[in-house]
Amino acid sequence: MKRIAFPRLLILGLVLVAGVLSLVGWALVNQPEQSLSLIDKAKNFSLFQPDASTPSPDKDQEPSAKDQELSRESPDSAPPPKDLALPYKSLQGKRILLDVGHGGSDSGAGSTQSQEKDINLEVARALKTVLEHHGAAVFLSRDADQAASSAAANAMDSNQSTINQRIAWANNTPGDLLIGLHMGTSRNNKVRGSLLLYDQNNSFATQSQKAADVLQKELTAFYSRYVNAGDIYKHKPADGNFPVLRQSPLPSVTLEMGFLSNEKDRALFLQPDFQKALTERIAYGAGYYFSLDAGQLAQMAIIIDDLGNNADGTNELLELGCPITVAIMPFMHASAKESALAHERNFEVLIHLSLEAERSVSTAYTPNTITTALADDQIRKIINEAKASVPHAIGLNNHMGSKATADTRVMSVIAEQAKENDWLLVDSSTSQNSQMSKAAGNFGVPFACRDFFIDNEHNYASSVQSLMAAAADAKRTGNAVVIGHVGPDGGKSTVKAIRDSLPKIQAMGIELVPISKIAK
Ligand SMILES: [Zn+2]
Repeated sequence: MKRIAFPRLLILGLVLVAGVLSLVGWALVNQPEQSLSLIDKAKNFSLFQPDASTPSPDKDQEPSAKDQELSRESPDSAPPPKDLALPYKSLQGKRILLDVGHGGSDSGAGSTQSQEKDINLEVARALKTVLEHHGAAVFLSRDADQAASSAAANAMDSNQSTINQRIAWANNTPGDLLIGLHMGTSRNNKVRGSLLLYDQNNSFATQSQKAADVLQKELTAFYSRYVNAGDIYKHKPADGNFPVLRQSPLPSVTLEMGFLSNEKDRALFLQPDFQKALTERIAYGAGYYFSLDAGQLAQMAIIIDDLGNNADGTNELLELGCPITVAIMPFMHASAKESALAHERNFEVLIHLSLEAERSVSTAYTPNTITTALADDQIRKIINEAKASVPHAIGLNNHMGSKATADTRVMSVIAEQAKENDWLLVDSSTSQNSQMSKAAGNFGVPFACRDFFIDNEHNYASSVQSLMAAAADAKRTGNAVVIGHVGPDGGKSTVKAIRDSLPKIQAMGIELVPISKIAK
């Protein structure tokens, strides 16, 4: 990744003179007109481009009408239980340093109503409680509204700057991970969400970057449960080049938890519930980093859509003896049969619910497509019938749906039904404005979002390529969700690409898991 070309000595000098830690906050507080913030500078280096998970247009192929026999006997057994506890378990015995940004006369970013230094400390205290609950030992660089920790200050020459105090504190406190807690600010007031920073010159740069990648993915997913999809800023971890990040002798990241320059982020951080949920997710991300660092395999979920109609590739797919997730269209002639067969063979089953698209030929819809014109009760009725049509389902994902997923009311009814049935929701991500994650968040429904489609090009070679790109992403961030399709448009080659690629993916140290292991 390209480095941000700040002259280091100049930065250090400026920081010491200003007496603040965060350059981001500093730029806004002291030099609003003359200085670009780090965020704005970083943009010039293309660090903030949307990632590969941009929404794709609706799939609009018509389901295959081929009628192939699928019946085959195999022993019945229950699907594996969920195991979301593992990342938290990895926190046991870990020593985590929380460098609480700003303090005392240095209030950081924000206004008097929402000062960065106060938010940093509130979140740090809450995060400490959560991390300790999961067995970690936690150390704060300050636990009061002061420039640095009293422990650090007492131990050191009083002439040392607050930056040096923090560096000395990090050097004198043995630890496994340092997380600097800050709020960001940008001159572009649309920028929001969490942003991770690390330093490539830290002696634990590889682990620092890994922690940043893993936390970035977790927190971007976390944010998606609170904001409209169109508002999500898909940050990528940036090389922060801060003295504390560089000189701390342990894996170190700075977390800009949200952006005080954004009105909606500011409001979110005044909500205690949001702060609490955020600390849970930071703890989860930290635990996930530790578990990956200790050799736990990264995870990949493959969902195959458009079953239910004996479509091309279905037989081959159901012969794959591995934990793929199948999404079965309800109300088709083979919906129930394929659902039973998939369940027998230990595939997790989703209802592949047909949702209205912005632009699509009507032949791409299955019967009982949910449109924005339907009343709440009509939507509930369709979902109930879909449930009967696809027995064994553990959740829902959307077939098409660029219009309906962007509709707050429709998504709310679907999330409510998911909650009632103890289902998870997977967004196939066909709209930039999807409200599904937010609705799932409102109802406390486990949620996952597609990261990659693997058969946009409808050919074997590009499916293999997409699978390997997804695997590389899973390796970097800890997990990836991919979606492919059965059907006349290359279903067989998609399944063959999966079968041929799985050994390579597993050799990369990636575990293929059912979607319930990733949704949260
Ligand atoms: Zn579909």
